[in-house]
Amino acid sequence: MKSFILHLVIIITLTLVSCHDSGTVPGKVTDSTKHKTIQNNGPKTVADAATILARKEVPVLCYHQIRDWNGGDSKSARDIVVPVNRFKAHLKILADSGYHTVLPDQLYEYLAYGTPLPEKPFMITYDDTDDDQFNIAWPEMKKYGFKGVYFIMTVSLNRPKYMTREQVKQLSDEGNVIASHTWDHHMVPEYTTEVDWQTQVEKPKKQIEEITGKPAQYFAYPYGLWKKEAIADLKKRGIKAAFILSTHRDPGEPLYTIRRMIGSGYWSAPGLYKSMIKTFNNKR
Ligand SMILES: [Zn+2]
Repeated sequence: MKSFILHLVIIITLTLVSCHDSGTVPGKVTDSTKHKTIQNNGPKTVADAATILARKEVPVLCYHQIRDWNGGDSKSARDIVVPVNRFKAHLKILADSGYHTVLPDQLYEYLAYGTPLPEKPFMITYDDTDDDQFNIAWPEMKKYGFKGVYFIMTVSLNRPKYMTREQVKQLSDEGNVIASHTWDHHMVPEYTTEVDWQTQVEKPKKQIEEITGKPAQYFAYPYGLWKKEAIADLKKRGIKAAFILSTHRDPGEPLYTIRRMIGSGYWSAPGLYKSMIKTFNNKR
């Protein structure tokens, strides 16, 4: 499973999308002559795809394992295994540079309705349920007031080297978001039957909700792989937004193809910082 991820990480390009915030806030009417904003009382309408794509893109980082390298780690594995001190330096440079973490509900409100975010927003996400995400990443994030998003595979809960249900519950109780990364990491483009969708999306979503007592409305595609037809299936099952890796967003479904960048184990803190700016500010 992991070797496949590594392969993908290597082939994925960091080609990106232009960003320009239109500042449109549906539900509000601006009177340009008087420079006043008049609130109407209608229901909020999700912005159209072009408006969402035109908003300034929020950097979303994706981490997997946070531990020191050992002799068994291949060259490619070291992209997704980030040594502990390096990970700490990644967080520090972002905190020192004035970045604030945001969570999926905030990102959704911003993308869908134009609701403003804190200054210098970014999101930090973790995939695959590794226990160092609880033991190392969470205490480090707390130092800076950061909160994160944990995309978990429910099959791995309570297994050695993975997080327990109690740890997941604690992360949720302490303000992080627990979200779905399927049952056992099967890739979405291969789901063909109702049973596939139940096993990989419906049941894991329900299980997360039972553990945390909160809705689990966000999803990360295993390996970042998705297909257009699957988006309707995700919507039908109550998934509000979904995350890919650093490939292109879908022009018609930007909320179901939110981009993330792998925080590589090879990057120094300034390297990560530069790469993040470049990835999320490129003009197409
Ligand atoms: Zn994964």
